[in-house]
Amino acid sequence: MRRLILPTLAIASVVALAGQTPSYDLVIKNARIVDGTGSPWYRGEIATKGDAIARIAPRIDRAAARTIDAGGHVVAPGFIDLHTHARRGIFDVPTADNYVRQGVTTLMEGPDGSSPLPIKPFLDRLAGVHITPNFGLFVGQGSVREQIIGLVNRKATPEEIEKMRDLVRQGMLDGAFGLSSGLFYVPGTFTPTAEVIELAKVAGAMGGIYISHMRDEASAVVDSVRETIEIGEKGGLPTQVTHHKIIGKGNWGKSAETLRLIDEARARGVDATIDQYPYTASSTSLQAALMPAWALEGGRQEVLKRLQERSRRAEIMKETARLISEERGGGDPQNVQLARCDWDHSLDGKRLGDVTKGRGLDPTVENAADTALWIVEKGGCSGIFHAINEEDLQRILRHPATMIGSDGEVPIFGTANPHPRSYGTFVRVLGRYVRDLKVITLEDAVRKMSAFPAQRIGLVDRGVLREGMKADLAIFDPATVRDMATFERPHQYAEGVDCVIVNGQVAFEGGKMTAARPGRLLYGPSASR
Ligand SMILES: [Zn+2]
Repeated sequence: MRRLILPTLAIASVVALAGQTPSYDLVIKNARIVDGTGSPWYRGEIATKGDAIARIAPRIDRAAARTIDAGGHVVAPGFIDLHTHARRGIFDVPTADNYVRQGVTTLMEGPDGSSPLPIKPFLDRLAGVHITPNFGLFVGQGSVREQIIGLVNRKATPEEIEKMRDLVRQGMLDGAFGLSSGLFYVPGTFTPTAEVIELAKVAGAMGGIYISHMRDEASAVVDSVRETIEIGEKGGLPTQVTHHKIIGKGNWGKSAETLRLIDEARARGVDATIDQYPYTASSTSLQAALMPAWALEGGRQEVLKRLQERSRRAEIMKETARLISEERGGGDPQNVQLARCDWDHSLDGKRLGDVTKGRGLDPTVENAADTALWIVEKGGCSGIFHAINEEDLQRILRHPATMIGSDGEVPIFGTANPHPRSYGTFVRVLGRYVRDLKVITLEDAVRKMSAFPAQRIGLVDRGVLREGMKADLAIFDPATVRDMATFERPHQYAEGVDCVIVNGQVAFEGGKMTAARPGRLLYGPSASR
């Protein structure tokens, strides 16, 4: 009897399943679940329905339209990058392959005090493009100040401060997640702390955070961390040191002090946090990095005028030489690499010492300073500056209040010589710093890339693997995940990521981006919509 009944039952269940609509869109089996909270991984299966996680259980037997076998690899929440410069590239490459292939499912823009302003037309324009990752914005203090006061070095009047507060308020109503600043850059550098606090108060009252590229990341880095903490404390809002690093050999080791300041602030109740990218080189424009701020006041025409005045040029050059010797230049012109020169792309990737030689000059610091100013006059370049040490990097990474952010962009594959952080930040942490060097655990790394940044900006429905959360997922092999992009050959995608799911749709698998573009615009805590 048994022999007869069993096959009948089996057939019956298949028939019943075939006639049913599946309970789930997707079931991921055979997974090590790293849920984002920092808790140790556990074995389980995850089912999605629509854009959300419908069930997580040791075993899920109900039918699904599609089953993915994770092969014992890790399933983590999709990574959230709080610091990107994606707003130019996202229109050229709406799939943001360089990020999605690392497991990144959410990009935050408007960092360093620079954002579209007003925000709404930008978001409306982006809404017309089908993008792959989710996308949100901060409103930039520098952009706000530029609109009201311009690029000049002076204090704001009370009326101007009111106008700037109105712009921040409008930015928050339009959907910003907080206020960013770039007090290192023009015009942020001309802003007194008290003025930033007045703007931060507006963002804070509306539920936003303050995130800052600090005034100085070299000799005055400790004071700058103090200022960032003060702005959070007096502005009454969470405050974040973005892309925390210590620039210049003479300053190496100061992260012990900056982290102590963060610990002390937290101990007295200031909600201060950090983000970081895992590289010992930074990237910004050559002129911001190697010219004094006073020489940059007023915009490009003013800069060029100053460079034509003999005595002023000599003054600037002296400071440029100092910045090469002691700060971002890393003590040697060869530590300055050109990333992108729109006026002569043959320079992309070259070292400043070599470019100096190419002009028929010995590659001394003074001649390299002259070459840097020549480059600025020609049209400028973005640069990569090798001036950070590994010990500070690892100390900052180990800190519990540090999360991961790339400071990268969405490059056009093969174009220019961008910093490899755009292609490698997240997988470099998982490969080099988790697996190879064991600086932090896998679970902590995932927390720093998912639950922590989500909590920081108030994304309550992303960043953790739980039923009901949005189905943003990254599946990767912890034994092979790694970054391939180097400073010499940056255009290389991450390896070891198997599959990336955004809002329940598979965006990347089998080494290829899919046709799905499931990314959504994300709106902040006071968005009026
Ligand atoms: Zn920055």
